[in-house]
Amino acid sequence: MGKAKSHVNKKEAQAVADYATDVAYALSLPRWRILVMTDPCGDDAMATVDTVDGKWTARIWLCEDWMTQPYDTRRETITHEVCHLIHMRLADTVIEDSKPLMRNGDHRDWTRRVRREFELMVDHLAVFLAETHSLERAWDKAHGRTS
Ligand SMILES: [Zn+2]
Repeated sequence: MGKAKSHVNKKEAQAVADYATDVAYALSLPRWRILVMTDPCGDDAMATVDTVDGKWTARIWLCEDWMTQPYDTRRETITHEVCHLIHMRLADTVIEDSKPLMRNGDHRDWTRRVRREFELMVDHLAVFLAETHSLERAWDKAHGRTS
């Protein structure tokens, strides 16, 4: 006892990582290595994703109450997060490279607008992907459920 316990068990973390890798392959993004972090993301999101600078490595954080979220909601959330990898390099270019060109307040506003557009794009892509790929089956497989 005394050791901090992760909010997500090892089996679920592995299932999320396996599924995320399947989704990355479905998106023709096989170079990405996707890690599931043991500490939770902030309260305002189900999950968040970022990338390690200059590497094909992504990190996914899951919310504190991840394990109590519905099975299908968890799958949809991970699909969404992996779709973010499509635009990561573009986001860095659009957001970081524009920084010296704008005043701070303007750049914050610009960043908020760009991120909102990326969210809409990612939602769109996630729906499309769900319609064209057997994501339910991949999620089941990652959880050791076979049908
Ligand atoms: Zn998102």
